[in-house]
Amino acid sequence: MNILEVQDLCKTYGKGEAAVQALRHATFTVRKGEFIAIIGESGSGKSTLLNVVGALDKATSGKVWIDGQDIFSMPEKKLTVFRRQHIGFIFQLLLDYKRPDQRFVNELLNVLGLTERRHHLPSQLSGGQQQRVAIGRALVTRPALILADEPTGNLDSKNSQEVLALLQTMSAKYQQTILMITHNK
Ligand code: ADP
Ligand code: MG
Repeated sequence: MNILEVQDLCKTYGKGEAAVQALRHATFTVRKGEFIAIIGESGSGKSTLLNVVGALDKATSGKVWIDGQDIFSMPEKKLTVFRRQHIGFIFQLLLDYKRPDQRFVNELLNVLGLTERRHHLPSQLSGGQQQRVAIGRALVTRPALILADEPTGNLDSKNSQEVLALLQTMSAKYQQTILMITHNK
């Protein structure tokens, strides 16, 4: 089953001589449970791709289906709700204030190695721990798709490897579909 289908996606910023073609006919599919990394240099259009796929920004042309739904054909209000319910962003604050399933929260804290830190404030956590919280926050609503924009961008190599290993665990253990972008092979 395809959780994500991207077809002929184009995004051009600006007009005339100042126009920047950030996406040119991007086409790909992601199946349920797949953990995909898209690698590209700075300025190659990675964030644009994630923002358009996550309906945070408008495409110039092309189509995106998430969980079988054509997201660009949805009216704005429906799309906002769909985004909250079906997409998890690892670079963003939690948007949907659904009541969390406490057992699943405890399980995630355990898997993420954060049980002992559950009552700590963000300022009392290391960078790696904060990023693990962000992963847990994206997972807790069990979204169809998690979009991660350079989730290891500001971490040292040890914490980066931990975060990557966790994303892999989440994909394998919960059949979580993840699309991650990075400039780091
Ligand atoms: P990446 O995330 O791979 O570094 P981006 O998607 O942020 O790349 O940017 C792709 C290209 O689009 C770059 O050339 C960038 O300068 C341009 N760009 C990104 N956002 C905007 C914007 N809001 N207005 C104009 N140009 C933009
Ligand atoms: Mg970027």
